[in-house]
Parts: sequence; structure tokens; C-alpha cells
Amino acid sequence: MASIKAIRGMHDILPDQTPLWQFFEAQVKSVFEQYGYAEIRMPIAEKTDLFCRSIGEATDVVEKEMYTFADRNGDHMTLRPEGTASCVRAALEHGLTYNQVQRLWYHGPMFRYERPQKGRQRQFHQFGAEVYGLDGPDVDAELIIMTARLWRQLGLQGAVTLQLNTLGSSAARAAYRTDLVTFLQANMASLDADSQRRVATNPLRVLDSKDESTQALLDGAPDFYAYLDDESRDHFERLRQLLDAAGVSYEINPRLVRGLDYYCKTVFEWVTDKLGAQGTVCGGGRYDGMIEELGGKPTPAVGWAMGVERMILLLQELQQAPVDIAQKVDLYVAHLGAEANVRAMQLAEQLRSDITGLRVVWHCGAGSLKNQMKKADRSGAKMVLILGDDELTQGQVQLKPLHGQGQQQSIAIDQVTAQVTRFL
Ligand code: ATP
Ligand code: MG
Repeated sequence: MASIKAIRGMHDILPDQTPLWQFFEAQVKSVFEQYGYAEIRMPIAEKTDLFCRSIGEATDVVEKEMYTFADRNGDHMTLRPEGTASCVRAALEHGLTYNQVQRLWYHGPMFRYERPQKGRQRQFHQFGAEVYGLDGPDVDAELIIMTARLWRQLGLQGAVTLQLNTLGSSAARAAYRTDLVTFLQANMASLDADSQRRVATNPLRVLDSKDESTQALLDGAPDFYAYLDDESRDHFERLRQLLDAAGVSYEINPRLVRGLDYYCKTVFEWVTDKLGAQGTVCGGGRYDGMIEELGGKPTPAVGWAMGVERMILLLQELQQAPVDIAQKVDLYVAHLGAEANVRAMQLAEQLRSDITGLRVVWHCGAGSLKNQMKKADRSGAKMVLILGDDELTQGQVQLKPLHGQGQQQSIAIDQVTAQVTRFL
């Protein structure tokens, strides 16, 4: 019978990989703590409507990437393709945005039906940060500055660059959109097929088309900055000053619009040229209209999301992970004889209680001493305790350091904690 494999685009993260993931996750969490952000955890599925209303019907995500299904009751639900919509839903549902500022972060799997390739999965993971209730450029700057700190902590500051743009107010965008559509319609024949389709559904997305001749044509398109409203212009200007003052450099990219409908004013992406086509590792922006759109009082909001798989690839690519992060064992407890087996378990328990954080593996199953020593070696343990029935009657056990820290020795069983501590 054919064995069952994982779903295409959904990956196992195996034990030799998890130490790197844990290392990365710990680094991100430490940054969130340094800036006073609190963790929120949302379900991985939501009512389909939530994503249609917040992300926008004419986006790639809603048009063709969502995992949507009817449950046994016939209700339409979707595996979350991103965290922002769920986070807003949760904040509204629990009154978190009522007269208060929230600085939140989340982490977890996201699902998009995309063509799997390097840096692009159907189940992938994101860290995200969202702030509610602050409308100034200061918090936009903070969100970017904290990512820059993370790159420094990870030694990646030279590998990523910040692309920055403003999308202005919705009124400014609407006026620009009309003129852009007129321009695009007059040049329909020079556009790639995707862009032709987007002229009617989501014309701003044409700006970040990957097609070269479309990009060349856009050099002659109306300039969005000429449409920018004063407030957005000022917001952008002050954001830039804050980034300059923090020593965070950026490139202004007038064609950066981001895939989702909900953004206004600030948008940004951190990109790398080290991962091939999937070069965006973190993206975000301001979405002041969304909370009202989802039924709340008008509330400013801004955030970002980071793709964990791409960050892991980047760390591996640049060999920026510390070499010694593999899960290690301190002590392996071997035993010979029925009595010794039970005493070995008790001693392992006692040592875990006595020495905080001590990592102990109790040998399970039978096995010759030679076989047990081999397993101890493979576990990476620093030392082995060997219990034998005969010696136990004399209150003795053997302690053998494994990495040249001296000879195997016989020790009194009531001295074990002190002796083990010597070799840590
Ligand atoms: P892309 O242009 O690569 O499709 P996106 O604009 O759709 O990205 P966002 O919705 O902004 O991505 O999500 C934030 C981050 O999540 C991305 O910058 C990327 O690092 C990561 N990401 C998005 N989709 C995937 C995926 N299918 N597989 C792996 N990572 C992803
Ligand atoms: Mg995408």
C-alpha cells in the first residue's frame, strides 16, 4: 500500500531544524518584550466573510489563495491566510480598542493556496505586530525600528534593505486611481495579461507588476506624489525624519503598493537579494480604515508581518545562526539489572529536582553496557551515570565524563548531586 505523505506545500519541521526555529523565535520574542508588546493568540480558522471584508475581494489572497470550506453545519470558514484580520476581529470582539492603545504581537501558521517553491509554502508561519489607537508617524517608526533591531540581533543588518512608500488618504488614492486607469486603458496593449485584468479590479496593483515592459510603461504614468494630501505628506515626512534619527536607512519606492487592499499612508517592505524570487521577508503598513470597516469605531491601526520560513532560509544562507544551538543532553543514566533500572529512574528524577534545568535521559529498554554507552554518546551527553545491581547494594554508582574531563569513578549514591554538578 502506498504510504501517506504530507499535503503539498505543507512541511514538517524536523528535530534537526527545530533548534534553529526556536533560536529565531526566542530572538523575535525578546524584541517584542523590549518594546512592551503583548502576545495575542487567535484561532487558525475564521468566518470567510472576515477575510473578504478586510483583505478585499480583488486581491490575490481572496481571489485565489484562500483555503475555504464548509464545516459540517454548512458554515463557510477559512484557514487564516494572514493574522491582521483575525487580530482586529479579536480586539473588537473583546473591547481591546475601546479608549486604549494596544501594542500586540502574534505568531503562528498561515495558509495560502499558492504554487509551492523555495520560500513559498501553502502552510507557512508568520510573526506579526499590530498597534491600535495611535495615528502618528512615531508608532510607524517604532514598528520599523524594532525590526531593524531584530536584524542587528541576528547579524542580518547587511542582508536586508527597507523599501518605503506612502499610499496617502483614501481620497488621494481615489483621485489617483481614476487618472491611473485612464492612462492604463490608453496603453492596454503594452500591459502584461495580469495587469490588463487588474486595470478593472485593482489598478494600483499594476504598479508593482513584475513584468519589465509594464514597468517601463509605468515610467510615463501619473506621479502619485502629486496627488498626495497634505496630512499624508506631513506624516511621511515626519516618519522619514524619525527613521533618519534612529539611523535606519531606507529607499523610497513609489511603486510599492503591497498586495492587500487595506493599507493607507505608510507601507514598507524589508527585502533581501539572497533568496531569489521570494525576497520579501517582512512587510507592513498603516490600515486606519479597517477597524471601522469591520464594525468598530474609527481607530487608527498599523502593523507588519514577517515570514518565518524566509527568515530561516536567510539565517542558513548567511550562516548567521550560532553553531551550538542543537538540543543537548547533560546526563545519560545507564543501568544493568532489574533493581538498577528502577533506581536509575528514581535517581534521574532526583537529579532533575536537585539541579535546575539539568537535561537527563533515562535509558529505556534493555541493552548491553556497550550499547547504552553508544546511545549516551549519540545523545551528546556530557557524562553517564552507570547503575549496577551489585554496586547498588554497597551504595555506589559509576560516573563517567564523556569529553575528556577525567576518568570513570565510583561515587557514593548520596553524593551524586554534588558529583554531577562538578562536571556541568
Ligand atoms: P509575496 O509577494 O511574496 O507573495 P505577500 O505580499 O503575499 O508576499 P504578505 O501578505 O505581506 O506577503 O505577508 C508577509 C510576509 O509573509 C511576506 O513578506 C513573506 O515573508 C511571508 N509570506 C507570505 N506568503 C508566503 C508563503 N506562501 N510562503 C512563505 N512565506 C510567505
Ligand atoms: Mg503573496
